[in-house]
Amino acid sequence: MAFDSLSEKLQNVFKNLRSKGRLTEDDVKAALKEVKMALLEADVNFKVVKGFIKDVQERAVGQDVMNGLNPGQMVIKIVNEELVKLMGSETTEIKLQPGSAITVIMMAGLQGAGKTTTTAKLAGKFKLKGKKPLLVACDVYRPAAIKQLEINAEKQGVEMFSMGDKNKPADIAKAAVEHAAKNGNNIVILDTAGRLHVDEDMMAELQEIKEVVEVHQTILVVDAMTGQDAVNVASSFNDKIGIDGVIVTKLDGDTRGGAALSIKAVTGRPILYVGMGEKLSDLEQFYPDRMASRILG
Ligand code: GDP
Repeated sequence: MAFDSLSEKLQNVFKNLRSKGRLTEDDVKAALKEVKMALLEADVNFKVVKGFIKDVQERAVGQDVMNGLNPGQMVIKIVNEELVKLMGSETTEIKLQPGSAITVIMMAGLQGAGKTTTTAKLAGKFKLKGKKPLLVACDVYRPAAIKQLEINAEKQGVEMFSMGDKNKPADIAKAAVEHAAKNGNNIVILDTAGRLHVDEDMMAELQEIKEVVEVHQTILVVDAMTGQDAVNVASSFNDKIGIDGVIVTKLDGDTRGGAALSIKAVTGRPILYVGMGEKLSDLEQFYPDRMASRILG
């Protein structure tokens, strides 16, 4: 799983710190240098690492810590707290419309990021909460994507709306919301088309959907395996169409995981969920504190 290597490195640094009774400023600085290297090797954004180490250092070399009973433990506690802060401190829920009003969620992301799979995974979560989601096939360029959504919707026992591949995504979205109103669906999840790279046509298509239907939540799906690219993609989407939150997929893979640590700091948008496998149940709510504990071991 992601962070295995980062965890191992940090644990080694901390073992050394703990084994020392007293700490000098140089001990702390040397340890933080190693933490910095470990974060960079985990593909955390360079600026994010720099800011992080500065914050930890400012807190860790203060008199209270150095003269305290257990300075090593204090430094580790500070690193933990700052990691949690980096990832956004609080768990962010997808904001639903009040009462029985329909919430329209638009899923965006590059091709292969895991958008269609994640759409179905999310639908499962909503269904468990007693909601009645409608999955909408807005990816009209790949007939396979429509089929995949249909199969996944069936597996999840949720409804799916498609108009084939001859209509514009914005028209499909509009028809889907009208259908949802008649059919009693309270959540509409639009599975949009991705491209291999961030491109103008894709952004224009997403914009058009937003002009035609009221999108309440725009959720970006990024692939953790793409590391720093995932962070750049998140920045581009946020600048061009505005996103409310991010889902980071494939954190189960052999990825260095840096994207999960950088996205909030770089884009200001929270991570909502993380994908932990190919199965439709493999979606976990993102808890910054639990993730920090996982990383620190
Ligand atoms: P889309 O093009 O963005 O719609 O991507 P898909 O939903 O088709 O996913 C692309 C591939 O990634 C598929 O083989 C999925 O099974 C796989 N996938 C999606 N999410 C995860 C995840 O969290 N972990 C793993 N291991 N694979 C995933």
